[in-house]
Amino acid sequence: MAVKSVALVAHDNKKKELVDWVAANNTRFANLKLYASGTTGKLLSKSLNRSDIHCLLSGPLGGDQQIGAKIAEGEIDLLVFFWDPLEPQPHDPDIKALLRIAALWNIPVACNRATAEFILTSAYMTDDQHRPTKPDFSEYTERQVGH
Ligand code: PGA
Repeated sequence: MAVKSVALVAHDNKKKELVDWVAANNTRFANLKLYASGTTGKLLSKSLNRSDIHCLLSGPLGGDQQIGAKIAEGEIDLLVFFWDPLEPQPHDPDIKALLRIAALWNIPVACNRATAEFILTSAYMTDDQHRPTKPDFSEYTERQVGH
């Protein structure tokens, strides 16, 4: 059975909302492999009493980029990223990069609770066979550059 992998990230003002939402949906999350940026992951591990959450570095220290790399490598099926629309972040370029790479690789992204709920309850979440179409970049990678 192909277990789906979810990456979870929340900015400081959004952490409580994310942790509460994940806890409220604990049964659904129990069957998912979880990755998270450092501080978000620590809070989730404590709240869910789970020791199997793959905690990466804290977002501003490179955690967002680590998640982006995992998306590019095909390891993440869903990104739940509660970013804060009311506060500038020191790692703004990393946030933009993470959202860009998720769009590039056709990964579903939830940036708020309403969207996250829609996705988490989608039949695709429990369908082992379903994978979003992987984009074909061959035209780009095989283009002729230089001599
Ligand atoms: P954090 O990172 O979970 O380590 O706080 C989140 C972020 O700001 O990207």
